[in-house]
Amino acid sequence: MQTVSAPLKKVLITKDEIAKRAKELGEEISKDYEGKLPLIVCILRGSVLFYSDIVRNIKTPCNLDFMCMASYGAKTHSSGKVRTLLDLREAIEGRHIVLVEDIVDTGLTIKHILDMFRTRKPASVEVCTLLDKPSNRTTDITPKYVGFTVQNEFVVGYGLDYNELYRNLPFIGVFNEDETK
Ligand code: 5GP
Repeated sequence: MQTVSAPLKKVLITKDEIAKRAKELGEEISKDYEGKLPLIVCILRGSVLFYSDIVRNIKTPCNLDFMCMASYGAKTHSSGKVRTLLDLREAIEGRHIVLVEDIVDTGLTIKHILDMFRTRKPASVEVCTLLDKPSNRTTDITPKYVGFTVQNEFVVGYGLDYNELYRNLPFIGVFNEDETK
């Protein structure tokens, strides 16, 4: 069988490391939200693989919902300008929300989403991100649940893309842009 190949400098986080961390985070969320019936929100498309692993590891009753956001502009860094392509189905007033994101880099995208959520008066909103790149932050965002903290390098795989490719890699690697030139 053929495997997916991608221009990578290196594999950064293996499939097994991701599985272990998703289990730990799922258990932590289960404990924190016991009896609260949280709404676990997937921010499509980048977080879809992480989301499915997180919700499978949440052992307390919860609801699932989906949003699709698109950012304008450059391929390898955030423009901070985001628009909603698909909104939630559930009303969130009075609900406990966990937003599941792929990566918090500058924090502009998640800040925009958090601001939008807060106008809908949820009981609480927390962020669970697969990856955190704190060295690049330009906002005061601190995600409560973090899969892995990474350096300021462009990564792909396990939901994360370059030009809509490599989302289906089961691991996370550092992208080698030179190989695409
Ligand atoms: P922020 O607005 O926090 O700067 O960036 C968030 C968004 O930028 C992410 O949801 C993701 O779509 C994209 N992004 C930031 N860093 C990376 C990266 O290293 N790899 C990929 N594939 N996307 C990234």
